[in-house]
Amino acid sequence: MSPSFSPSKILRPLILHLDIDAFFASVEQLRNPRLAGQPVAVGSGVIASCSYEARSHGLKAGMPLGLALRKCPPLVIVRGHESIYRCYATRMFEICQNWSPLVEEHLDEAYCDLTGTEQIYPDPAKEIARLRDAIHSSTGLTVTAGLGRNRMFARLIGKFHKPNGLGYLEPEQEETFLLRLPIEHLPGVGPRTVEILSNLGIDKIEQLRELSRPALAGILGRHGESLYERCRGEDHRPIGGREIPRSIQRGTSFDQDVTCPRTLDAMIEYLAERAARYLRQRGLEAGGISLQVTHSDHRRDRRRIVLAAPTALDPFIIQAALELRLSMEGRRTAIRFVGIQLDRIRLAPTFQQGDLFAADIDAPQADSQADSQSGQRWKQILEQVDQIRMRHGHGALLRGSALTLQSGHNRGDEKGDEKRARTGLERDRHGLILRTSCLTR
Ligand SMILES: [Mg+2]
Repeated sequence: MSPSFSPSKILRPLILHLDIDAFFASVEQLRNPRLAGQPVAVGSGVIASCSYEARSHGLKAGMPLGLALRKCPPLVIVRGHESIYRCYATRMFEICQNWSPLVEEHLDEAYCDLTGTEQIYPDPAKEIARLRDAIHSSTGLTVTAGLGRNRMFARLIGKFHKPNGLGYLEPEQEETFLLRLPIEHLPGVGPRTVEILSNLGIDKIEQLRELSRPALAGILGRHGESLYERCRGEDHRPIGGREIPRSIQRGTSFDQDVTCPRTLDAMIEYLAERAARYLRQRGLEAGGISLQVTHSDHRRDRRRIVLAAPTALDPFIIQAALELRLSMEGRRTAIRFVGIQLDRIRLAPTFQQGDLFAADIDAPQADSQADSQSGQRWKQILEQVDQIRMRHGHGALLRGSALTLQSGHNRGDEKGDEKRARTGLERDRHGLILRTSCLTR
């Protein structure tokens, strides 16, 4: 586990994992020097990220801000600036790409495959120090690096050298290191898996090893099979260039609970647009969509549908989201939070079937053909819209409905009185600043 290691000892393959320390909070401290050295939390409702000064008071991501303030009264709370965070992460990825032949990007983390770079990097420790310096001098951020023979070990060892550290696991140390860890350190083990296994009295990786492959598969399905390998230090997942997220969420809470269906629909349209744009930017499309609302009495409602065909086009996603909203009608309580989630994400096919009879637009058409033609037109329109937004920010072009949101007033009151239901959302050039920080802008 020593940060200085001899290259002759390093087994190939070799994977480097880089992780920005206290990402959102560090960026906020860089942007505002008065926050340097202060306990800072980024988030709304709950902590999305907090500085190491805040962590020393026992604060951590996911903690409600009210509790955080009680634990640490001098805490400075900042609302997220996702677009700015994304720029910082992108800069780090660019530096990594200049340095490593294969880089995989994950929000504020990067995996670099250094397999076969012995000739250009005879002393990896020195090169990694240089890389971390380059990231620091370009962005002002510190990163923690972990180096191991696969992605799991690289990430795991880095966790024990935060912040601003470099960890390397000697091959002969792997076994002892792994066995003493709690199971939640293994990739893919979330709270649900921890709960299932802990009900069986399994908390440590050592205990997990006692289960046979069929037994683990019986308890956890296919996931159990991969866990059988992970707890033995095996992780054969390759380092891939492009990440396909399992789902994409966009959501926000409101300053005041919203009662007007039109305001709610406008927000749903806006969130759907943001999510759809994210899909298109990455050449992806989604096959499923869910809508989640939290009522003022804290009750949650979630509905999901599978789309007839995967898409990345605003009108189809918006239509599906609004249908879900209509299906929720019935409860007469105000809405505190609304969010949409796209799932069944896949790469969009690069080749589109040409339309043989496109010129004959007056001919009677089957529904599917009409859909595909309207899809083609929307695709062309959205390409232009995306280009404008790329240059001037998402806020440069907004749907009419979103304009009512940014004015902050509930204009949908049937009686036209002055009753105001402020969404309370601020706006920057990237559009409305959503309350739920997510890096996938
Ligand atoms: Mg991080």
